[in-house]
Amino acid sequence: MREVPDFPRPGVVFRDLTPVLADPDALRAVVDALQDKIDPDTQVVAAVESRGFLLGAALGYGWRYGVVPLRKPGKLPAVSHRVSYALEYGEATLELPEGAVQPGQRVVVVDDVLATGGTAAAACSLVEAAGGVVTGVSVVLEIPALGGRELLAGRDVSALLAV
Ligand code: 5GP
Repeated sequence: MREVPDFPRPGVVFRDLTPVLADPDALRAVVDALQDKIDPDTQVVAAVESRGFLLGAALGYGWRYGVVPLRKPGKLPAVSHRVSYALEYGEATLELPEGAVQPGQRVVVVDDVLATGGTAAAACSLVEAAGGVVTGVSVVLEIPALGGRELLAGRDVSALLAV
């Protein structure tokens, strides 16, 4: 992992997992460790754009989950639900594709980093708006100083590493 100061805004230290994903052994270790903490009844991975896609696809292929991309605005041809939320550095919107999550499906939210928790909370609310059941939130890295778990109170949050 690499720390990049002043990205994407001055004063923000960005934790960059690119070197982890680029290393075959590290990628495999991270994906295996994420899988170890996923509720066994989970059926679908909801993967947050864009690094969550990489992890979500590996989990889906490896352990036979469906994969649903939660996308930034303007990318999906058909949107079932949309949510806007505050970020550490600005505001963002996530969209759920139409028909991707079925009512009652058990869904884990996967992303690379948990910071303020706004993104993961938005992801959970999208899944639930479609009638899905969130089994947990799984990330590689958590930044506890930013308090993400408070926003996700009552949810099963697992992080492989905290900095
Ligand atoms: P949050 O909504 O928890 O504040 O921010 C988490 C979202 O922003 C995730 O989708 C994550 O990819 C991105 N993010 C925020 N801070 C960082 C960071 O330091 N490193 C990386 N890789 N992603 C970050």
